Amino acid sequence: MYDYDLLVVGSANADLVIGVERRPAAGETVLGSDLAVHPGGKGANQAVAAARLGARTALLARVGDDAHGRLLLDSQRAAGVDTAGVLTGGAPTGVALITVDPSGDNSIVVSPGANGRLTPADVRAASGLLHASRVVSAQLEIPLETVVAVAAGLGPDSRFVLNPSPPRPLPAVLLAACDPLIVNEHEAKVLLGEAGGAASGPEDWARLLLAKGPRSVVVTLGAEGALVASADGGVQHVDSVKVDAVDTTGAGDSFTAALAWRLGTGASLAEAAAYAARVGAVSVTRRGAQESFPTAEEVDALGG
Ligand code: ATP
Repeated sequence: MYDYDLLVVGSANADLVIGVERRPAAGETVLGSDLAVHPGGKGANQAVAAARLGARTALLARVGDDAHGRLLLDSQRAAGVDTAGVLTGGAPTGVALITVDPSGDNSIVVSPGANGRLTPADVRAASGLLHASRVVSAQLEIPLETVVAVAAGLGPDSRFVLNPSPPRPLPAVLLAACDPLIVNEHEAKVLLGEAGGAASGPEDWARLLLAKGPRSVVVTLGAEGALVASADGGVQHVDSVKVDAVDTTGAGDSFTAALAWRLGTGASLAEAAAYAARVGAVSVTRRGAQESFPTAEEVDALGG
């Protein structure tokens, strides 16, 4: 009945990465490694992660009419994502300028570019795409009013999943649409403000976030797995899978995409999170973001 298992509405960035011996101080120039250009952005990452697992996936995003935009479209299509909803023009493609030192610490400057030009009107014009999608997921690397328009434009039985990253206070109408709201520890603390500081830990954060209005909440805890919380199910812990982590970039994006897809297939929140934890676990065993996302066969092959 639905054309798509998952529609991702969000950002698409070119990640421009240079390795340096040390990051430059103000006014200083340092020499670095050859430039590496990777497709990224939370929206683009989530769409690739879901499609690689076998979900029928579409992306609603905006890129510039430039080489970075074409790189992003190519990577989406290579993973099997339907890109008919990707709009072009209005500003250069979003870019993240990343310098990484030998210890792995990085400094990042983001130019949102075309991501900042994805408007509520663009979302309303894509109403057919929203209504054709079982689950719709979003993040906050596009304007907040655009994400609010997504939540307002869902099909009658579509489910909305939000990872509020980068975090900021959310309007009640957006919180109420989330099923679930997916946060890591940092995002939980920002959303909870002072109440988060006074809370005793992740279980408290999950309960306090649930009280803000979402239908369900997931708190991801890195190597510790995740918590899922809903009014009828209470707070439950979901175990992680023990792996040798080499690079956690994109773990949250692959977790969110996998969870959103599984929910649409009828899995419970705890079942979907357990599957997503396996996807996140595989992704941290490999370097990079989109390059690290597994196929369903690779998830099935994971022990534990
Ligand atoms: P990022 O911002 O790095 O993409 P995040 O902070 O949003 O990630 P995490 O909590 O780090 O999200 O990771 C998401 C999920 O991936 C976790 O809930 C867990 O299931 C899995 N995961 C992450 N790190 C590990 C790890 N070291 N070992 C096993 N599983 C992991």
